[in-house]
Amino acid sequence: MKVTCPHMGHLHWMLDDLFGRLGVEYIKPPPTTTKTLTIGAKHSPEFACLPLKINIGNFIQGLDMGADTLIMAGGHGPCRFGYYGIVEERILRDLGYDFRFMMLEPFGDGKWAFYKTFETLTPGGLGLRKLWKILKVSFTKGRAFDQIHKRTLQVRAYEVNHGDTTRALRQAEKILTQAFTAGEIEEARREALALIDGVEQDPERRVLKVGIVGEFFLLLEPFSNFGLEEALGHMGVYLERSVWVTDWIAPNGDNKIYGFPKDMVDSKAAPYLNHNVGGEGRETIGSIVLMAEREFDGIIQLLPFGCMPENIATSIIPKVQRDHDIPVLTLAFDEQTGRAGVLTRVEAFLDLLTARRGLSLVGANA
Ligand code: SF4
Repeated sequence: MKVTCPHMGHLHWMLDDLFGRLGVEYIKPPPTTTKTLTIGAKHSPEFACLPLKINIGNFIQGLDMGADTLIMAGGHGPCRFGYYGIVEERILRDLGYDFRFMMLEPFGDGKWAFYKTFETLTPGGLGLRKLWKILKVSFTKGRAFDQIHKRTLQVRAYEVNHGDTTRALRQAEKILTQAFTAGEIEEARREALALIDGVEQDPERRVLKVGIVGEFFLLLEPFSNFGLEEALGHMGVYLERSVWVTDWIAPNGDNKIYGFPKDMVDSKAAPYLNHNVGGEGRETIGSIVLMAEREFDGIIQLLPFGCMPENIATSIIPKVQRDHDIPVLTLAFDEQTGRAGVLTRVEAFLDLLTARRGLSLVGANA
């Protein structure tokens, strides 16, 4: 069995580890590029959300590399995500591909459905206890990847030499990749964080503090947002993001990486939006309130064009902005969006934040 999955940021590091432990051959599609999106957009309905088009591109590239089993996250709720797997499977079969399609339903929907997927992947005996142990250690590694990526969003704003943080991150990823046991992972995590913290920084630099909120795929997959976080870091912007891949996967909503549990985020959103609208619509509102209370200079909301939950959030944001006196820039992306246009809007937004703060200079290392 040769398994492939769509890319989503640095999720592939965790999948590499997990499939290795399960003894399953993992066909990692090539990194997502414009070619991936062009392939995906060509074969997807025009009004499908951008992540679906990128998923299709990843799957086609994985199938062309010899994958025979596709795994896609399942889900449910008011938005289209719960239909992604069904639509993607149909599109790929209509194109003539022959494969086994497996939906990984959320753990909270019944651990047996979740277990069955892994049991099918590893015929010949993977007990529940053994699976649990494997998942736990791979997840720990995933947490460590999230932690080092989170740290780079903060360090990059202060780096003295352009690109040092990114270079340290690449090295940190290599160190983590090689760790196997829980003890080695912990050791590698510390070493990786120390590497990033060791980047030469200018602690006197006056930086803007900006929160990134919005739809999970747009936040997690740098290709889909033109590497906006790295670009902002090079402009001297300290960033925090509301969605992380292991927070998104974890069934208990503890949001360990983000630092604010889901219940708390929901309670912050409650005066404006008191029910689940799918995706991260409610979390976007709650996070804007939280970040405003923590005195962020501004917020950038990212969403795929036509994303229902984020469009609901967008319609509520003006009131949140007024009540909490915080500027919010909303950026919608589809396959027609251009990097230059996005960066121009971001730069204008940063000028506004700079003027509000009375900073004389942003992006000393830009
Ligand atoms: S959250 Fe938005 S982009 Fe994601 S599947 Fe739902 S509607 Fe599409």
